[in-house]
Amino acid sequence: MIEIQDLHKSYKMGHNSLHVLKGINFSVKEGELVSIMGSSGSGKSTLLNILGMLDEADSGSYTLDGLPIKNLNEKIAARYRNKFLGFIFQSFNLISYKSALDNVALPLYYQGVKRAERIDKAMAYLEKVGLAKWAGHLPNELSGGQKQRVAIARALASDPKVLLADEPTGALDTKTSYEVMDLIQGINDEGRTILVVTHEPDIANMTKRIVNLKDGLIIDDTKVEQVRALSNV
Ligand code: ADP
Ligand code: MG
Repeated sequence: MIEIQDLHKSYKMGHNSLHVLKGINFSVKEGELVSIMGSSGSGKSTLLNILGMLDEADSGSYTLDGLPIKNLNEKIAARYRNKFLGFIFQSFNLISYKSALDNVALPLYYQGVKRAERIDKAMAYLEKVGLAKWAGHLPNELSGGQKQRVAIARALASDPKVLLADEPTGALDTKTSYEVMDLIQGINDEGRTILVVTHEPDIANMTKRIVNLKDGLIIDDTKVEQVRALSNV
């Protein structure tokens, strides 16, 4: 599903440049649940943003579902992003003046789905994350865990091949984190490929494979016995 080879990325800062990714190689098969671990500043988000086509590497290759991702114009990149990828962020990134339902329906709007069908589908995804009753509420009327559930429903609405989650539990308390991880495990059980960036070992242990990032390189890539999130609650 994902294949990257010798990926490099530097940030330019005035006359200096910060070499963040120094030759990353890895691949992810369909249906995997992988965590990318590493301390703060190790380049996790940089890597995830490149995988999410929100940013581009300086060199190296990236193939997503057989398609080489390189020098795409923004229109095609946006189409690929919509078609292949769903995003979940630490800070939820919901639109504050739109209801939970309208937030979930938004990706469908960009896909050109008609309003009635958008609402039906968005409602089904809200049901899936257990929030049907909250459909009409604004984000600031929801708890952190509920907001992240809405964000997950929104990420699923476009039926992406890969879900990319950057510290999805970073803003949540422990119990709520495990509930969100239970949801993520359930979505992976259905066969969806998911990458989770986290600096928390407990969260990484709830995935099936841990990729450790340090000083711009992968220092460890290990399959683990998945801990079921709800066994912790
Ligand atoms: P992580 O997600 O693992 O905490 P990041 O990928 O966000 O790490 O950042 C890796 C390094 O790159 C950090 O030193 C950070 O300060 C730097 N960095 C991240 N984004 C930018 C940017 N847009 N411009 C300059 N430096 C950046
Ligand atoms: Mg980060």
